[in-house]
Amino acid sequence: MPDVVECPGCGFQLCRVDISPMSDEWIFYCDSCPHRVDVSFYDSIVNQIRNQLQQEGKWDYDLLMERIEDKLKPCVCGGHYKKVVARRCFNCNSEIIRDDEHGSMGRRIMLYPSIFCPDDDNLDLETQYIKFYEEYVLRKNIWKPL
Ligand SMILES: [Zn+2]
Ligand SMILES: [Zn+2]
Repeated sequence: MPDVVECPGCGFQLCRVDISPMSDEWIFYCDSCPHRVDVSFYDSIVNQIRNQLQQEGKWDYDLLMERIEDKLKPCVCGGHYKKVVARRCFNCNSEIIRDDEHGSMGRRIMLYPSIFCPDDDNLDLETQYIKFYEEYVLRKNIWKPL
């Protein structure tokens, strides 16, 4: 069941969703706004980074995440996408979920505006969802130029 979380800063209702363990994407959040980038496990740049680390004999999850962060282009706001960073309110940009409070589980918590809570009976949800993704989630053209 999704939980509704109220932003302590502005009262905006957010829906808290835990990322499925079956997910095949890593999610990186901007360190200064609510935007995020979804990076597929099978992305060709990810494969390159993975191969590079294996060649260097430095295979390590945290290092892989760091190398991905280095290669992601900056957010439209000028911030940087990071693996371990607060989830922010879509309305006022307050920090809502902080990883230091939730430990590694915090990384699995995603926030959406509460209209996306599955029990919300919104007929126009699909259009809203597409708009949300267009506005907040980068999924294509995610890398810095070579
Ligand atoms: Zn940003
Ligand atoms: Zn807020």
